[in-house]
Amino acid sequence: MQANSQLILSIDNNVTTSTKKGKAYLIGAGPGDPGLITVRGQEILKKTEVLIYDYLAGERLLDLVPEGAELIYAGKMGGVKHTHTQEEINEMLVDRVRAGKIVVRLKGGDPFIFGRGGEELEELVKAGLDYEAVPGVTSASAAATFAGVPITHRDCTSSVAFITGHERPDKNETAIAWDKISTGVGTLVFYMGIKNLPSITANLIKHGRDPKTPVAVVRWASMPFQRSVVGNLETIADIVKEEGIKPPALTIVGDVVNYRKKLDWYEGRPLFGKRIVVTRTREQASELVSLLSENGAYCLEHATISIHPPDSWQKTDEAIANLQQFDWILFTSINAIHHFFKRLRKKGRDCRDLHGIAIAAIGRVTADILLEYGISADLVPTSFTGEGLAAAMSDQELANKKILIPRALKARKVLEEKLSASGGHVVIAPVYQNVPPVYEGTVLREEIKKGEVDMVTFTSSSTVTNFVSMLNVSNNEELQDLLKDVKIAVIGPVTAKTALSFGMTIATQPESFTIADMVDSIVDCFRTVVSG
Ligand code: SAH
Repeated sequence: MQANSQLILSIDNNVTTSTKKGKAYLIGAGPGDPGLITVRGQEILKKTEVLIYDYLAGERLLDLVPEGAELIYAGKMGGVKHTHTQEEINEMLVDRVRAGKIVVRLKGGDPFIFGRGGEELEELVKAGLDYEAVPGVTSASAAATFAGVPITHRDCTSSVAFITGHERPDKNETAIAWDKISTGVGTLVFYMGIKNLPSITANLIKHGRDPKTPVAVVRWASMPFQRSVVGNLETIADIVKEEGIKPPALTIVGDVVNYRKKLDWYEGRPLFGKRIVVTRTREQASELVSLLSENGAYCLEHATISIHPPDSWQKTDEAIANLQQFDWILFTSINAIHHFFKRLRKKGRDCRDLHGIAIAAIGRVTADILLEYGISADLVPTSFTGEGLAAAMSDQELANKKILIPRALKARKVLEEKLSASGGHVVIAPVYQNVPPVYEGTVLREEIKKGEVDMVTFTSSSTVTNFVSMLNVSNNEELQDLLKDVKIAVIGPVTAKTALSFGMTIATQPESFTIADMVDSIVDCFRTVVSG
């Protein structure tokens, strides 16, 4: 056994020290919504060693990149000074691949559509390096889809052109054949054309396109803060100016734009444009975010707790040093398991040191996580609470049994009290503590103060108390003042009671306490405000 593992280690060493061949991946990130990257793109991001990314390549995709990867922001925001020149980017790419790294060049939309993807690949070919390219959803396609404009339609157009609007208007020789595209193509989509919109529309009219041709301009397509305006070739430049539409935006010209009146599914959703805070402490948060987003809301996800090590490891380390004295170990949360095993490893031990000790998990999910550490729980109660676990334990003979509970520094005492009452000797080993996240709290306060939050949602009493403590207000009056323009949604009466105890005013609460009903009640709440 020992010899084997040494053998494997030395093979591993050989692999890492042998000349590992680097490879570049040119990946299209899609238009901004992280859900719109391809499956292949996502797969590669997960094994990235160096990431070179652009302004438009969805920030949230960075979460997929392994910790410790080198992240290089290549900048390139239209009109703003570039962070790196194209030559520098090419050089960084080639250098890193030569050094044997897996380098991902992540670009907004599709890398080959106004993305200089071709130029970067040419550099790699010149250097004789290995590469792969992965396409992405280009922003023209996303803008059309999310603005309710079918980019082609049998009834009015059978051709579409993607055109750069970035050409300088004073350029004497234009690379765009205005005479041909104005009347020869059905739908025209201009990328990077906001600054030049007056000259683009003038050119199209001058070369024969009907001045009444409808035009849509779509900013931040696919994002919850997308904005579209519609006009025609004569009016759109003024509308864009008046409405303050800035890049990144696309201009779609053609009769297909008329279909938006019928097909505006995205911006027409009931919660579109509403900014709703979801406090992330439980698994339910992701269901809430997904249902709210589906209704068009812009969810601001905030973790209201952050996990820190306990102030002292003394009690836990003593327990770990004398594990064999315990008859039982009880795991009451997923965090307790991860942090207990982390500490166990740190002390040079592993699951073999738990040999002979009975193990209980508070519920199925916790038991499944234990399996990942090679441990099959001896006891899992059917009801997933401290009381449920205490009840299941009371069937055991506990008199004079030593029971270890690794858990958060502060936790409910019900389990240890019940076990002690049955004659057990309970040792609590703090393996982590919940701390209000200071930075998140400051960010959230600022968002609320600036009027950027329409609603805060609470799915349990603890989300209310954690939210209040992260805001770091000195009293209820200050809290009420901060939240005076923010609607509060709660899942049920217990949560409502806690919110009321802080002086909050509840805007909506569903009749039955499920996330789906809560979202319905939120939709109704905003609908009432609009029509009332
Ligand atoms: N390779 C990219 C385009 C890069 S050029 C693609 O395939 O989409 C940059 C221009 O793309 C911007 O100036 C803007 O016109 C457009 N663009 C990119 N993302 C956009 C978005 N989410 N919404 C609207 N326009 C976008």
